[in-house]
Amino acid sequence: MKNILVILGTRPEAIKLAPVILNLRKDPDVRVLVCNTEQQKELSNQTLNFFGITADFKLDTMQPNQTLAGVQSRILSTVSDIYKNNKIDATIVQGDTMTVFCGALVSFYNRVPVFHVEAGLRSYDLFEPFPEEAMRQMTARITDLHFAPTQLAYEALLKENISPKKIIRTGNTVIDALSCLSEKIMKEAQNKLLSRSVSLNDKLVLVTVHRRENHGDRLDRILEAITLLTKKYSDHQFVLPVHPNPNVYTKVHTALGNIQNVILTEPLDYPELVCLMKSTKLILTDSGGVQEEAPTFGNPVLVMRYETERTEGVDAGFSKLVGADIDKIISESDAILSKNKSETRLDGSKNPYGDGHATEKITTAIKEFWK
Ligand code: UDP
Repeated sequence: MKNILVILGTRPEAIKLAPVILNLRKDPDVRVLVCNTEQQKELSNQTLNFFGITADFKLDTMQPNQTLAGVQSRILSTVSDIYKNNKIDATIVQGDTMTVFCGALVSFYNRVPVFHVEAGLRSYDLFEPFPEEAMRQMTARITDLHFAPTQLAYEALLKENISPKKIIRTGNTVIDALSCLSEKIMKEAQNKLLSRSVSLNDKLVLVTVHRRENHGDRLDRILEAITLLTKKYSDHQFVLPVHPNPNVYTKVHTALGNIQNVILTEPLDYPELVCLMKSTKLILTDSGGVQEEAPTFGNPVLVMRYETERTEGVDAGFSKLVGADIDKIISESDAILSKNKSETRLDGSKNPYGDGHATEKITTAIKEFWK
């Protein structure tokens, strides 16, 4: 029996690791323990719930007005206790947060192999995204199995002198997660959206913005562009789940709170967001996960960032970088919103981020690792 500790802390980590946890739990020779650092406490726990997963360890590591070093030291010491009190044979982390780097580091200190899901994403700019680019690069140095979601990620790891024997091309588990939700949960999500007055029709625009680099002036410009778009396309409904970060929340409510065709919601439950993506005509986002999921539904995406480590979607014609540039956001949105939805659909079967089979490849490689 092998004990695998899955360490996560944020909503995207919960979404992207849920299929892996569920699949590994089918194996009678594996015991999966889940540690939630609760870097995003409510969002992560609530998201795990939709998949029927409860964390075995909940670390409650966040504090108000904390520094990055402060949260890092709390995660390191609380995660370390888990290794002290349990026999752990391998650690799985996913992505590029503080949780990922700290989880990998404690595992390494305990000489326990680290398996990194979504390895090899790079912008090569340590400040975009900050601090995530550094977190994922540092994690790569102490990882035993790198699960690269795309060919570009695979090549990036090779260039960093990681042995090809340790890199497995898998696709992104975010695509697998889309099919892990029960019909009942999806039906409830649809009803919840309707109760929020969201019209699931062909004139729906989804907007998400939360990244640290987009706080400040950039957010002002993004909100100005969206305000202009809501006026120009007054027959379209703009839905914006507002990130709870106070840097985002107040500005978004002040700028868009009184516009009749804008619906501001709390962060949507993952099933609700999936339901919304199925209907939406255009997505404006700075989210990584949304860039990966949206192509599956044939949605065009405008990425409100100046850099993306997810260039595959841009190259395949699913997404375009528009930064926080008002003119660009408006002209690229015009190109889609001025047409009927049927004219702007893309071929979802060509999603470059995965085919829904990443989890199988990951679990197979983990079993091979011990042979
Ligand atoms: N998401 C969600 N509800 C929302 C916004 C996003 O469930 O209101 C999901 C989305 O489907 C994706 C993930 O959260 O799978 C992306 O998370 P986020 O944008 O917070 O982080 P990033 O991917 O940029 O790291």
